[in-house]
Amino acid sequence: MKPADIKAMGVSHTHPDHIGNVEMFPQAMLYVQKAEYDWPGANNEPRFKPSHPVELLTGDKDVFGDGSITILSTPGHTPGHQSLLVKLPKTGAVVLSGDAVHFKDNWDNRRVPSMNANKELTATSMQKIADTLDKEKAQLWINHDKAQRDTQKMSPEFYD
Ligand SMILES: [Zn+2]
Repeated sequence: MKPADIKAMGVSHTHPDHIGNVEMFPQAMLYVQKAEYDWPGANNEPRFKPSHPVELLTGDKDVFGDGSITILSTPGHTPGHQSLLVKLPKTGAVVLSGDAVHFKDNWDNRRVPSMNANKELTATSMQKIADTLDKEKAQLWINHDKAQRDTQKMSPEFYD
């Protein structure tokens, strides 16, 4: 698979460790919340190249219309943060929390990191994730939690 084969991508939010390679896929439709896209960057720079194809979201999106991949609006860490609910045939449902949850400890204790853009929205988004985990019987994958990562398969292994 080449970068040009990628048709679409979603980003959780626009911190540099989450969007650094977006322009390796200049033709791919970018799914991003409008609130994140419109959030001014350093020196008022846009967060993405204005030429990049984009679909601006204002809430959740069932990407393929079959419930297999759902973007969940989870603002708070940044104004337009989003998470991803993925339903895999063998693994089952997984929520990829981006930075809506930083570490298992702040999830377990519902602590909001002080760097977050909005404390109340973060707490509301954590509750939305908790409700989604219950409803979908989903696992929570916390992207920055190294202890959890150390228990997970890494490329070239995969989940299906
Ligand atoms: Zn972040």
